[in-house]
Amino acid sequence: MTPPEDRRTVAQHVDAALALVAPLPVVEHDLDAALGRVLASDVVSLLDSPASDSSAMDGYAVRTADVRGATPTDPVTLRVVADVPAGGPGGPAGVDGGPGAAGPRIGPGEAARIMTGAVVPAGADAVVPVEETSTGRFVPGSPASPDSWTGTVTLPVAGRGGARRTHVRARGEDVRRGDVVLGSGTRLSARHVSVAASAGYATLPVHREPRVAVVSTGSELVAAGTVPGPGMLPDSNSVLVAAAARSLGAHVVRRGAVGDTVQALGVALDEVLSGAWPDGAVAPPDLVVTTGGVSAGAFDVVRGLLDPATRAGTPWADAVTDAQLVAVGMQPGKPQGLARWRGVPWLALPGNPVSAFVSFELFVRPVVDRLRGCPEPRRALVTRVAGEGWASPPGREQLVLVRHAGPDDARVVLARPVQRGREGSGSHRLSALAVADAVAVVPADVTALAEGDAVRVLLLD
Ligand code: AMP
Ligand code: MG
Repeated sequence: MTPPEDRRTVAQHVDAALALVAPLPVVEHDLDAALGRVLASDVVSLLDSPASDSSAMDGYAVRTADVRGATPTDPVTLRVVADVPAGGPGGPAGVDGGPGAAGPRIGPGEAARIMTGAVVPAGADAVVPVEETSTGRFVPGSPASPDSWTGTVTLPVAGRGGARRTHVRARGEDVRRGDVVLGSGTRLSARHVSVAASAGYATLPVHREPRVAVVSTGSELVAAGTVPGPGMLPDSNSVLVAAAARSLGAHVVRRGAVGDTVQALGVALDEVLSGAWPDGAVAPPDLVVTTGGVSAGAFDVVRGLLDPATRAGTPWADAVTDAQLVAVGMQPGKPQGLARWRGVPWLALPGNPVSAFVSFELFVRPVVDRLRGCPEPRRALVTRVAGEGWASPPGREQLVLVRHAGPDDARVVLARPVQRGREGSGSHRLSALAVADAVAVVPADVTALAEGDAVRVLLLD
């Protein structure tokens, strides 16, 4: 006998799904591969940034004492004694020892030609931009030979010379060695990996990528691209779930269109448990996601396999633990299942494509996010304005495919199927997925939304 059906809210089912999993172990990834992963610990800078007092301009490093009070009508002339390009301390020819070597020293009445980012020489405490000096501009690519830069420079020809530290970036003024620059739990974007590189890291500790096995059930399904015969249709759910999991950084194996027999599904689930993964690993999945077969039809195969009576005497008698077949107070997507298959967490979604989609967003995404180490895997909703009214069923949270009315518009309107002749969405009318950019979440106690009402939405993509 199938266990009695349990009724619950969306939030309760999210909790039940999250309880199946824990964050995956930590691995070290180089910065390119770390992109999109979740950081497993705080990142402490190994470096001061800037590493030294350095110039913010192309110009001349000077001693404030020499230029104080100088003006274009009463300038000073300094002897240029060194050339300091970025990339290491410079100096007169023959002294240049490359990065890290001792740099030149500026004495009274002296200046050094200096480029942006170069270390300010000892003795200097300000930089005068080249355009404020008698030089006017530097010729790009001019050789760093003494002839090209020795001599004198008169300044200022514009501006006011320079107060102490003018155009000097202080060592550590952005970050000091030991500062925390990235927090544990950060989802690493391009911005984050660049900060890590600047802090001295080539690799970062991140949670291992989840391995997700996707299985769609339905004897009516044909593989994408195959012309369906009578009563058949393309398997779009396994394509959807696999792609959505992959976009969360998961490795995915996909078994599409498993026939509606307990035998076929049992074999398919065992096969995906010993699967080889695109990254070369051979290991059980961290999560199995099935679609279809959870409602009350005579051939609802997931329901069948979750029933201990059906499994008795089969190779799968003991394969299922923690099974829950539930009616979630939501529309669409009411029938949901979860269990462990030989210990592996299993989320069983309904088969109608829009139901499968909202179920992924509501239940699968948080589970994958917890596996990949996100500290708060529950989805955040944002508030928008209903650009049109619609009805909502009493007693069930309604999930509605919507789209923003315009790029900067806070109004959302229904995302309609390609064929608009008939009203109502219908969880089989998946063409609306192509135009949706959000899912409106209408609370169970709301039965109608009017144009202008506030509405909470889950943003997609
Ligand atoms: P089920 O939840 O298995 O009763 O499926 C309900 C309906 O959803 C089926 O009759 C199909 O029309 C559709 N469906 C189920 N699985 C898929 C799938 N993998 N791809 C596209 N449509 C599906
Ligand atoms: Mg089915």
